Amino acid sequence: MTSETLAAKPPYGRVAFLTLVGVLATVCALNASMALSAFADEPDRPPVETVEAPPVDLPPPPAFIFDAPLPGQVVNSPFGLRQLPWEENGRLHEGVDIAAPIGTPIRAATDGVVLRAGKDGGYGRFVEIGHKDGFRTLYAHLGATARGVKPGMVARRGQTIAYVGSSGRSTGAHLHFEIRRKGKPLNPSYFLGQAFAEADDLPLRAAARVPRKVRMAQVSAWPEGVKPPKTKSGRARMRASVADS
Ligand SMILES: [Zn+2]
Repeated sequence: MTSETLAAKPPYGRVAFLTLVGVLATVCALNASMALSAFADEPDRPPVETVEAPPVDLPPPPAFIFDAPLPGQVVNSPFGLRQLPWEENGRLHEGVDIAAPIGTPIRAATDGVVLRAGKDGGYGRFVEIGHKDGFRTLYAHLGATARGVKPGMVARRGQTIAYVGSSGRSTGAHLHFEIRRKGKPLNPSYFLGQAFAEADDLPLRAAARVPRKVRMAQVSAWPEGVKPPKTKSGRARMRASVADS
């Protein structure tokens, strides 16, 4: 039984094998022609645009970035205790003074919303911007504010918000710039030109420190209305309270 079956199989097996070879050959030929036509079609197809996936460990953008309000200009009167020539005692200079020619554009130090824009006897024309995490920046002694700057306006970092002037109790063309957090004045030099990854990186304690040393301010001109009355000894004295300059 078994041997008969085996004997009977070869012719069928050969036929089946040849049929299989034939089918395979046909399939291969079809595939080849399809591949060729596909290749021939390729130039006509629109190029497929591919976008590379960003690396998974891309660092998040810094939480806080502070730009200089007057790029390229230096601080010529720092934050700290300072005595002006017409004052008897030193007072805290709650910001930095940056001298620049009248009309120089002043840029928002960081993203925020304009809180106040107006005039003050001491600060002169000023703009105050509120930022996240309780920060505020103040720009004073302005010549003019930029168009559209009013409370509620969104100010982007680097956006021109005002122009340098010498309004208020000022001793020459400069910007008086303050950074406060929750009302407390901070030394702007710790922030300008710096980026901080997160709130914990902010140098809040160092920036709030006020050195004990009182610096005598060098001023190029006395503000209008401030004149030292002569005493009997001929020494100039002035008791008037002078707002920040
Ligand atoms: Zn100042």
